[in-house]
Amino acid sequence: MKLNETISTSRPYVIAGPCSAETEEQVIEICTQIAGRGLANALRAGIWKPRTRPDSFEGVGEEALPWLVTAGKMTGLPTTTEVANKTHVELALKAGIDILWIGARTTVNPFAVQEIADALKGISIPVMIKNPVNPDVELWLGAFERMEKAGITDLVAIHRGFSVYKHDKYRNVPNWELPIALKERIPDLPIICDPSHITGNRELLLEVSQKAMDLNFDGLMIETHPRPDEAWSDAAQQVTAEGLEQILRNLVLRSKDV
Ligand code: PEP
Ligand code: MN
Repeated sequence: MKLNETISTSRPYVIAGPCSAETEEQVIEICTQIAGRGLANALRAGIWKPRTRPDSFEGVGEEALPWLVTAGKMTGLPTTTEVANKTHVELALKAGIDILWIGARTTVNPFAVQEIADALKGISIPVMIKNPVNPDVELWLGAFERMEKAGITDLVAIHRGFSVYKHDKYRNVPNWELPIALKERIPDLPIICDPSHITGNRELLLEVSQKAMDLNFDGLMIETHPRPDEAWSDAAQQVTAEGLEQILRNLVLRSKDV
């Protein structure tokens, strides 16, 4: 079954794993904890990290690909990582990553999105596309159209909020009307909410996850780390596997058709 069909029939489809793959032990530790508790449908880890400012941790790179693939094999769960250019695509495919995602800083750039689409021509792999950092539905839509034109039909949207100059409560404002507008333009497209990057704060994950469920989103991507406070990126928003379990347990799920 295609990923977009699986996601549309799950409630919620959960993608969990660390913001960044840091060491092989860390990836295996958190992924086996997540799978051991039966918390996720797929495992994530950032291998190439697009950081806003230089001199922050920019990801382990290629070396981390087999760590995530091994975690996938150990747990029987599909794996996903972010790709931002042709080289990332080629390396991720060669390593056996199951699902690719395009990050918010890449969706803003049609040249980069087109390069990824071209690298994927003739290849059958699901692609998830995060909203661009700026609140522009057309740009988000354009990324889907570029993939479709390249023959990639297994597509999923991820809503991770939008950058603002001054943020008070959330790191990235949700502007819920934008993913809703995207859904109106592509009605069959499953949408996953990424409350980790919207909130930037683990204490707020439940309320944003609940809001996404209330709006009939299909899934959640939640950053999960064995020791969140020691994480090399996005420490404040990551949760332990136990923390993730609590969030999922506390979600109130209503019927999708209401
Ligand atoms: C991430 O998922 O770790 C990430 C970098 O996300 P975004 O593209 O939403 O900032
Ligand atoms: Mn992150």
